[in-house]
Amino acid sequence: MTTTAQPAAPGAQPQELADGVDLVIDALRLNGIDTIFGLPGIPITDLTRRAQAAGMRVISFRHEQSAGYAASIAGFLTQQPGICLTVSAPGFLNGLNALAHATTNCFPMILISGSSEREIVDLQQGDYEELDQLAVARPLAKAAYRVLHARDIGVGIARAIRAAVSGRPGGVYLDLPAQLLAQTMDAAAGRNSLIKVVDPAPRQIPAPEAVQRALELLKSAKRPLIILGKGAAYARADDEIRALIERTGIPYLPMSMAKGLLPDTHEQCASAARSYVLPGADVVMLIGARLNWLLSHGKGRTWGGKGAKDRGAQKFIQIDISPQEADSNVRIDAPVVGDIGSCVAALLAGMAAGFGRPPTDWLGSIAERKSGNIEKMAEMLARNPAPMNFHSALNVVRDIVKANPDAILVNEGANALDFTRSIVDMYQPRKRIDVGTWGIMGIGMGYCVAAAVVTGKPVIAVEGDSAFGFSGMEVETICRYDLPVCIVVMNNNGVYRGVDVNPTGGRDAAPTAFVKGARYDRIMEAFGGAGAHAATPAQLRRAMEEAVRSRRPTLINAVIDESAGTESGRITSLNPAARKK
Ligand code: ADP
Repeated sequence: MTTTAQPAAPGAQPQELADGVDLVIDALRLNGIDTIFGLPGIPITDLTRRAQAAGMRVISFRHEQSAGYAASIAGFLTQQPGICLTVSAPGFLNGLNALAHATTNCFPMILISGSSEREIVDLQQGDYEELDQLAVARPLAKAAYRVLHARDIGVGIARAIRAAVSGRPGGVYLDLPAQLLAQTMDAAAGRNSLIKVVDPAPRQIPAPEAVQRALELLKSAKRPLIILGKGAAYARADDEIRALIERTGIPYLPMSMAKGLLPDTHEQCASAARSYVLPGADVVMLIGARLNWLLSHGKGRTWGGKGAKDRGAQKFIQIDISPQEADSNVRIDAPVVGDIGSCVAALLAGMAAGFGRPPTDWLGSIAERKSGNIEKMAEMLARNPAPMNFHSALNVVRDIVKANPDAILVNEGANALDFTRSIVDMYQPRKRIDVGTWGIMGIGMGYCVAAAVVTGKPVIAVEGDSAFGFSGMEVETICRYDLPVCIVVMNNNGVYRGVDVNPTGGRDAAPTAFVKGARYDRIMEAFGGAGAHAATPAQLRRAMEEAVRSRRPTLINAVIDESAGTESGRITSLNPAARKK
């Protein structure tokens, strides 16, 4: 929308003007960005209204943290920066958690926040919602920019887009002071100042000698292993990755959000023999996965080391877009720096002349471990205790996901996370989105909204009752936009478990205990969605089938044995005080 100023002189043509809001909207649309996740308020309310009027999708949340998480995962799912729009100071701070999350997880996202007047903020004169937002955001973002003049909006948005998606993706902060949004300039000059970013995430071709080094190491392996991380899922090099794995015959382990890049039921998938292949492998090729805490830093007993700090005997190949990633935890013998599509294609080209399959004794012993563990798991899943435990409930989820392989599975919690990851198989790429690198809670409903909005696919969320609480009010958002989201709350009455009691005998509940027998399903009903209460696997199955069939917003309160679950799920060892118990 442009405004018209009075002609400067009688008889002169009226001048067409554009303001900051026009230019922000036009700059985003020029770059193919058609969705904003946010929460209106001073000074960006009009920006949300006018963005919608201009044909953008504006998804309005109840809390900025959820809008931010939505933007971050939209970035992962689309390779375009997800946009989160917030008000100044407190709204900005609420969005900051997600900005840091995007940076940590290598998701492209732009947090755009309105801010107060620079002159007053810098002299600390006490403006409305005064905060030096740029300074606060900078250490948590891959890049942070502020635009002071309407004529620079095009550059500001172009820089933010490039910073978010090029190289290792991350979170970018863009500060838009209130006065900027009201600033006007000649509309034609404004249009001319906008930039359509050319090739925002250029391919990065690996050096031939790096590819050769990696190939030689891989060829020398007697017990090779490939680890796929969420960088591999993000890169959308699905065909190349499948070709590499199937042509080499090398067993692979998917990290949590890489599950489904190849179906978890693939015969080369070694997930069910994880504790055998990590210490057993002699050459490990990491593709878009970091050797951080989720992989025990590449050392210790997990990897066959003798103590917590010793490395095993493995040699590592690491494919990563970041040249700084190699050697961050242990020596990387063959780093291959580039984008995953180009790197994997180069490896495949180098194998064209032939590449031997891994020795059969390695494959045979993995297959043996796998079938033993799969059998044990099948026994656990077949049991039908009353009340339900995580296994009997997740056995149902496992079947529903198998029957709906294009549904997106959102997952957060402690036990609800760990059990789901190992029990529920995924069949297609980028269908599992979860707590990510930090293992945080609170992503749940924001992820559900974004996944449904940007993919149009049905969404199934498996939520711990504690995890759900962090973003539960967004159930209203899900109902308001009538999204095909089925939430299953694994309700065991507390954090980890619901059995703790106050040792003093006082009135206050124990810190980890919630209201017993809570009916989370009624929260969904309050906003017009479908609620269901499931005390048995049969009830859970019926409710999930109906939710997927109807595509109605649904929340199923799945009653789980309150004594089921362990402290901190599978990461009890990170909780030193609990370890001593
Ligand atoms: P996971 O938690 O699944 O192990 P991480 O988040 O630790 O995965 O690792 C993802 C890695 O992928 C990061 O080091 C990041 O630099 C890398 N990465 C992201 N996108 C690409 C890409 N397009 N090409 C190559 N590497 C990428």
